[in-house]
Amino acid sequence: MRGERWAWVDVDLDAVRHNVRRLAEVAAPARLLAVVKADAYGHGAVPVAEAALEAGAHGLAVALVQEGIELRRAGIEAPILVLSEQPAEQVPDLVAHGLVATVYTIPYIDLLAESARGVDVTNVEVHLKIDTGMHRVGAQPGAAVELAGRLAARAPQLTVGGVFTHLSSADSPDSDETDRQLAIFDKVLEDLRRAGHSPELVHVANSAGTLAHPRARRDLVRTGIAMYGIAPDPALDQLCRDLRPAMSLRARVSLVKTVRAGDGVSYGLRHRFSEAARVATVPIGYADGVPRRLFGTGGEVLIRGRRRPIVGVVTMDQLMVEVDDDVSEGDVVTLFGVDEFGECIEANEWAARLGTIGYEIVCAVSARVPRRHSP
Ligand SMILES: *Cc1c(COP(=O)(O)O)cnc(C)c1O
Repeated sequence: MRGERWAWVDVDLDAVRHNVRRLAEVAAPARLLAVVKADAYGHGAVPVAEAALEAGAHGLAVALVQEGIELRRAGIEAPILVLSEQPAEQVPDLVAHGLVATVYTIPYIDLLAESARGVDVTNVEVHLKIDTGMHRVGAQPGAAVELAGRLAARAPQLTVGGVFTHLSSADSPDSDETDRQLAIFDKVLEDLRRAGHSPELVHVANSAGTLAHPRARRDLVRTGIAMYGIAPDPALDQLCRDLRPAMSLRARVSLVKTVRAGDGVSYGLRHRFSEAARVATVPIGYADGVPRRLFGTGGEVLIRGRRRPIVGVVTMDQLMVEVDDDVSEGDVVTLFGVDEFGECIEANEWAARLGTIGYEIVCAVSARVPRRHSP
């Protein structure tokens, strides 16, 4: 089809490279795994992965086997860690594509070893995941030595490349939960050492751990959200001031009209104008990831370097904003991100309005919105 719709995402890969370098400096001598699950938090997995590797990332991490395969098909040869155990039917693909498996149960370890034999692979790298308190996935601390023993028994098909855990509360600077988890994890490492197991890579920290908890920076850090220039929590804003937002959600004004005093706008006419006003229509809506309730929470957009209020509920494909005489059809609208004047609406500003986190804002931008990547 000729031309693109008047709504798109700009992804600034220079910002990604800059953020990776900054985070790597903070984490050094630890190396960095760039977390590119969920299509790189909506930014586009392949271009972001390539940018992160160019900027010095040691490897990548994904949630799904399919996500790892997408990267391999793009020609990426760096280590790719799949962050949790996956359905049995996908294990042969995981092995065949040389992905690094996360393990925490005996049956899964056996399955991996059998698959490796089945496709004639002599060496699948695995990382052992320990649950130190988040209670999402991982082996219980008391089971670590037994699992390490089973892994050793499954050599040479399986090689243990690492041991890791995940922090539940690293983004809450006042919580003592991170110290508690680190203590449990260090005890597991000690038990493993005593039993004769010494995996090469020990890792703990997500973005918040990397920025706020120096003791969590071990051999490797696993950074996601901060690499995209978004603070994991407003409490960490200061630690993120050198990072640059990579995603900007944009559209073009599709229609401008004048409404009279007393007129309303959008479904239910929930916004009424007390005086005559100019209203611009922007062809992007909740099916694109702009939450319907952004209206009613003070939601604004940037046009020509100035904030303009959203008026009326966001509809599926379009929303309306109140503007002045300076705005006309075709003008670029920045919904969040950085505009051409350097003005910024952070994803976290939307998150604060909506009672959620910046992660959910960027991940919600739907596949219907084309991504444009800077070189
Ligand atoms: C998603 C994820 C990360 C990255 O977290 P951020 O807060 O985005 O840095 C790291 N480790 C694991 C296990 C994850 O699931």
